[in-house]
Amino acid sequence: MRTMKVRTIEQAKEFDQHDSLRRFREEFYIKENSIYMDGNSLGLLSKRAEKTLLASLNDWKEHGIDGWMQGSYPWFSLSETLGEKMAPLVGALPDEVIVTGSTTVNLHQILATFYQPRGDRTKILADELTFPSDIYAIQSHLQTHGYEPTEHLVQVKSRDGRFLEEDDIIEEMTTEIALVILPTVLYRSGQVLDIKRLTEEAHKRGILIGFDGCHSVGAVPHSFSEWDVDFAYWCNYKHLNGGPGAVGSLYVNKRHFGTSPGLAGWFGSRKDKQFDMEHMLTPAEHAGAYQIGTPHVLSVAPLIGSLEIFAEAGIENIRQKSLHMTQYLMSLLEQELSGFEFYIGSPREESRLGGHVSLEHKEAARICKALKENGIIPDFRAPNIIRLAPIALYTTYEDVWNVVQTLKRIMTEKQYEKFKNEREVVA
Ligand SMILES: *Cc1c(COP(=O)(O)O)cnc(C)c1O
Repeated sequence: MRTMKVRTIEQAKEFDQHDSLRRFREEFYIKENSIYMDGNSLGLLSKRAEKTLLASLNDWKEHGIDGWMQGSYPWFSLSETLGEKMAPLVGALPDEVIVTGSTTVNLHQILATFYQPRGDRTKILADELTFPSDIYAIQSHLQTHGYEPTEHLVQVKSRDGRFLEEDDIIEEMTTEIALVILPTVLYRSGQVLDIKRLTEEAHKRGILIGFDGCHSVGAVPHSFSEWDVDFAYWCNYKHLNGGPGAVGSLYVNKRHFGTSPGLAGWFGSRKDKQFDMEHMLTPAEHAGAYQIGTPHVLSVAPLIGSLEIFAEAGIENIRQKSLHMTQYLMSLLEQELSGFEFYIGSPREESRLGGHVSLEHKEAARICKALKENGIIPDFRAPNIIRLAPIALYTTYEDVWNVVQTLKRIMTEKQYEKFKNEREVVA
């Protein structure tokens, strides 16, 4: 029989002392007497992100229009420069990634460009657990092509409402499927899909496949190029700490360079041609071709500083600590909260575990409110999920310990009973 060592606060402190990423915590603005567990929804501001945002504002102040080519971070090539810096986080070539648009807009670009129904191949395959915005985008493209979404959008079912089985997804890759869109990590349960295997299986069947990386990029490393993923898109305000509404990212496999952008605009031009102002677009010969209009410079500027931090910390180190912390959180929850009717709805195997833990409880909405009252910031996903994300760059093991102790107190004292079990407008 295996005896489990009882976890103590001393052990948490010891983990913190041996944490090789410890120094990065000081780079972030962390509110006193508060523990932020929601970095998977909106990452915290770092001092470096603040600095590069202020530098960009100053470039505007100092240079006016000349900021496009001068200043600390010339705006004209910023989307490409940041794409290069982003590429190692997803295992892509430097010119396969462009920082542009937003998650939903980039999915629209992908669909407009690569969804080309032909013959019997008219359907799009997604899943029933994915983020609603992705589904809305897919439905709208089917409608534009004159197809009924109820028939042409195939959504893989989950067996238990939490996870997806790769086998079930592959089974749906029929001769009627033109394109597959899946999340890298499911936003509720935090399950990581086997991207390599799914891509291989899609390609064997002549199907294009792309991934929504919102919940993984910055927490989980990927090898998009090596796995031959066709395209991917993600937001930069969650694990990447780019700030509210930060400009998103788009990856296009170099095999597809030269495919005309479905949603064209002048910022997709070859840079040397853009200001020729011709009415015939000459697209860039890399992922930059899929940009549309003028970049939102002030919404991208914090990312310059933030990506420096990721380059220094290293995504493999971040993943290692993140995995250890999420496992630690789950085992603490088991140790301290048995008997309170919680259920851990995240995978336990490391290869399937993303950057957050999904804790299910029928009183989840009001337990979240009680956590907030106690200075702990979780997030709530209807109907019954408390998501907790220990972030490698700024959460300590002691924080995790304190979160679980507070949760235990809330349950023991039934503190949640004074709140309504309903979600807020923004959850
Ligand atoms: C956060 C998130 C989005 C949000 O899309 P925006 O266009 O940035 O609003 C989309 N998909 C997933 C999976 C997400 O987690």
